[in-house]
Amino acid sequence: MNRAFLIIGAGFAGAVMARELSERLGAQVTVVDGRDHVAGNCHTERDPETGVMVHRYGPHIFNTNSERAWDYVQRFATMRPYINRVKAVIGRGVFSMPINLHTINQFYGTRFTPAEAAEFVAKLGDRSISEPQNFEEQALKFLGRDLYEAFFYGYTKKQWGVEPRELPASILKRLPVRFNYDDNYYNCRYQGVPEQGYTALIQGILDHPCIQIELGKNITASEAQAGNYDHIFWTGPIDSFFDEVDGALGYRTVYWQEERGEGDLLGNAVINYPEAHIPWTRKVEHKHFAPWEDHEQTLVFTEFSKATAAGDIPYYPLGLAPDKQRFAAYAARAQAQSRVSFMGRLGTYRYLNMDQVILDTLEFADTVICAIKEQRPLPALPASITSR
Ligand code: UDP
Repeated sequence: MNRAFLIIGAGFAGAVMARELSERLGAQVTVVDGRDHVAGNCHTERDPETGVMVHRYGPHIFNTNSERAWDYVQRFATMRPYINRVKAVIGRGVFSMPINLHTINQFYGTRFTPAEAAEFVAKLGDRSISEPQNFEEQALKFLGRDLYEAFFYGYTKKQWGVEPRELPASILKRLPVRFNYDDNYYNCRYQGVPEQGYTALIQGILDHPCIQIELGKNITASEAQAGNYDHIFWTGPIDSFFDEVDGALGYRTVYWQEERGEGDLLGNAVINYPEAHIPWTRKVEHKHFAPWEDHEQTLVFTEFSKATAAGDIPYYPLGLAPDKQRFAAYAARAQAQSRVSFMGRLGTYRYLNMDQVILDTLEFADTVICAIKEQRPLPALPASITSR
C-alpha cells in the first residue's frame, strides 16, 4: 500500500525522517515549512554583496563523536575540516576559550605545566560542593569563583536571562576545561562545515523522487490533521501544536546587528564577550567559517539574546521548573493521540546539537518504520524522551 506522510518543518529532524520514510518504505512524503528555505535555523546563504556564506540564524559547526552522524552528513555533502577556536574579550584582555592551559596561564600570569595548572585549579574549586545541582555550582566546583565570574557568569546571564544558579549544570558541561594548550572549542572526533553550506546539505537529504517540499507555508495543527495523510511528524514547538493550552514553553531567541567592511574585522570566526556590562554575547565573522574561500569584503554579526515574544523564532529551550511541568503535560497530550509524532529540538523541547538531532531522528525512524511494517500504532515521541 502506498503510504503518505506529512512532515512539518524542513530542518534536520524533518529532512532525515523524510529521507528514511521515502527511501526505506517508498512512501510519499510532503515536507512543509513556513519559511522560504529549507534547513531551519541551520540555513546558510551566500550574501549577494560580499559573496560570503552567511549562517543566517547563527553559527553552526558540525561536531560529533558519532561515526554514524558523520557518515550521514558526508553522504549528502562534502564536509570541510573546520576547528572552532573561540576567543573571549574581557576588560583585562583577550583570552582563549574554552578554558585551557593558555587561558589559565594568561589569567593568573603564571607559567604552569599541565599538572601544576590542574593542581592549582583544583585548589580554587569549591570543595563543599559534592554533586553540583546547577550551572553555578558546576562552575564553582571545577573552576572556582574568579574564572567563573570572568568568563561564565555575565555571558550566561545575558544568554539565558536568568541567574546561572537557576540553570542546569548540563549547560556548562557542554564546554570542556583543559590543562593543555588544545583550544578546540569541542571535544569530538569529527568536526567540519559543509563546503556548500547547510542549506545545500539539507537539500541533498531531501532530494528524493518521493519527497515533495512546500516552502513559505505555515500550517496549523488542525490544518495538518485535516489532510489525507497516514501520519504527521511535527518538528515545530510542541506547545504551539496544542495551542499553548498548558502554557507557553520558555525559549530564548537571538538577534543580530550586521556590520559590513573590507578585509578582516575580527580576525576570528567567533569572539565571545562574557562581561555583563557589554550588551551582546558574541560577534561572528562569517567568512572565517569557510577558510577555503577568499573574500575581500566581510560581514560580522553582533549577537544579542532575549526572551521570545510573539512572532520571535525560538532558539534555546529555557527548561526552567515550570517549563519542565508544561512539557510533561504536552508529552502526555502527545501520547494520548495517535496520528502525530513530535521530534527534533522544538518538537521535544531539548537543547540538541545537530548531530544529536540526526541520531535521534534515525533511531526514531527505525522505531516508526518497524511499527508501520508490523501495523502497530506509531509512537508519539522518540524513546529518548519517553524513557528518561
Ligand atoms: N558560556 C559562557 N561563556 C562563554 C561561552 C559559553 O558562559 O564564553 C556558557 C553559556 O551559558 C552558554 C553555555 O556555556 O549558553 C554553552 O555554550 P555553547 O557555546 O555550547 O552555546 P551555543 O553555541 O549552543 O550557543
